[in-house]
Amino acid sequence: MGHYKHIVYRSGGRRLYLYSRKPRLYNHFDGLPAVDSVSSHLRCHPLTGDWVGISAARQQRTFLPNQAECPFCVMREGGPLTDIPVDAYEVAIFTNRFAALSAMPDLPPELGVATAPGLGICEVISYSDTHNASFATIGIDRIGLLIEAIGAEAANLLEVDGVQYVLPFENQGRETGVTIDHPHGQIYALPHIPVRMERQAEAFRVGNPLMDAIAGMAEELVISRNDHGVAFVPEWAKYPFEICVVPFRRVARPAEMNDDEIVGYAALLDEAAKKLNSVFDAPMPLTMGWHIAPLGYEDVFHFHCVFQPLKRSRTKMKYLAAVEQITDLFLLDLPPERAAAILNGLEQPDG
Ligand SMILES: [Zn+2]
Repeated sequence: MGHYKHIVYRSGGRRLYLYSRKPRLYNHFDGLPAVDSVSSHLRCHPLTGDWVGISAARQQRTFLPNQAECPFCVMREGGPLTDIPVDAYEVAIFTNRFAALSAMPDLPPELGVATAPGLGICEVISYSDTHNASFATIGIDRIGLLIEAIGAEAANLLEVDGVQYVLPFENQGRETGVTIDHPHGQIYALPHIPVRMERQAEAFRVGNPLMDAIAGMAEELVISRNDHGVAFVPEWAKYPFEICVVPFRRVARPAEMNDDEIVGYAALLDEAAKKLNSVFDAPMPLTMGWHIAPLGYEDVFHFHCVFQPLKRSRTKMKYLAAVEQITDLFLLDLPPERAAAILNGLEQPDG
């Protein structure tokens, strides 16, 4: 256990962090050039307080390249330029070339509503140098290394002046809008705590509602359990086959987990991902979020991860329709109890 971190400083202020289990040497190349002037800003909804990011440059970002031109694959002498210009790697975290936010943003326009600079940091995290791998196939040891890399990077970002909230996340499957197939997630560091995330964090000020809910739930909802935590379909699931993965010992952020807890938590994430793919014998389109303590909530927040699948039957996607989009009241056709039975192989999914 434990990891090594190799730092590459790239042009345009970009950074590339290479995480490995053992110390290793890398052959470096120049790689893809920086994209200049990402101009973005934030506009505030006058009624809800939600921020909207405006980032026109992202319209130009790489869209579904074929494998030979994948920007997250390794680079070879004379081969196509990539974002990870080394000959091999285990886990890589690097500046997003098509970032929605910038560490040095322009001044925002003056409008009728409040605006703010598009301040923030957007990074990509590649899980493997194997193009056809996925979170469900990289294995427990690699997921453990991911937990360590994400934990270390989230801790670093939360120490940057002005950063209040960090979200590591993954969009998985083209159905969710993925534009590069290579197995990867992203990390956003924001200068404010999004309204919903603040409400979630505030809930921990009056106790630990997450652990209370786990203590009271039916055993049938459990997908996987070990000495260190539990993966389950929450009674409050908004998405079909939603899975929440919670470590038993409260930690605010993954960097606080010890080696045994990381292995245990990695095993729970691995089994959750595999069971999700087993439902339709195909990669499940989903989003996955790492819920870590926003700044100021370190003493109360309970770290957890949530998988939010977007498919409710073999042939039907879960779309967010009017009621969901307008009111945030979700209507779920698949009860969590039945979703858990399907995930556990006790019932068949709908066709
Ligand atoms: Zn690739």
